[in-house]
Amino acid sequence: MNLKEEIRKLVQLQKSDLQIYHLVHERDVKGPAELEKAKTQFEEKKKALELLEKEVKDLQIKRKNKELDLATKEEAIRKTQGQLYQLKTNKEYQAKLTEIASLKADASILEEEVLRAFESIENADARCKAEREKLALEEKKFKEEESKVTARIQDISIEIKGLQDKRNVLARDIDQTIFPKYEKMLKTRSGLAIVPADNGSCGACHMHVTTQKINEIKMYKELVFCESCVRVLYISEDVAE
Ligand SMILES: [Zn+2]
Repeated sequence: MNLKEEIRKLVQLQKSDLQIYHLVHERDVKGPAELEKAKTQFEEKKKALELLEKEVKDLQIKRKNKELDLATKEEAIRKTQGQLYQLKTNKEYQAKLTEIASLKADASILEEEVLRAFESIENADARCKAEREKLALEEKKFKEEESKVTARIQDISIEIKGLQDKRNVLARDIDQTIFPKYEKMLKTRSGLAIVPADNGSCGACHMHVTTQKINEIKMYKELVFCESCVRVLYISEDVAE
């Protein structure tokens, strides 16, 4: 086996494998994460509108209760006014007038509160309407983003299939004692199993590679590994096409 030649083939193979690695990541991790993020953002906006709608409902209930209070107060005023003419003394009459004035003051406050409640409902309604329109646009944006990412994921799958066919042809040509090691490393080393040690440092982790080790690499008698990240090392100019 000519190790230098095997390494040259591995470097070529890894070009395809690295592309596949990034594409798989984009398809299986980045794409779904983007979809999830867009969905979460949309759901949050939807929830904000729901809260606003609940606020309107609560305000309407509050307004109805105030109106009921006001009706009760008005009924009490009528009843008390009816009693005025049955009173015998001036003192009793004055006391009743005071009672009526007090009820009327209460009623007046309630009237104010009902009016204010109407205003609050109007404001909240207007905000709801604006938010509903905004949300409709957001939903459109979200759906567009969703179909864009979904289409991209489908394209990537086709691209990956093409690259895999290509890499499988290259892989068949690699020495069967080396190939399984490469495959195993590829999985555990983020798609980079074999890297150049040019300029005295590892092309992946940038750890210093000693001159002695460089000499070992250049002999191409056995695989030489980076002491830090344990990737296979080679020298670029040795395997250049
Ligand atoms: Zn390294």
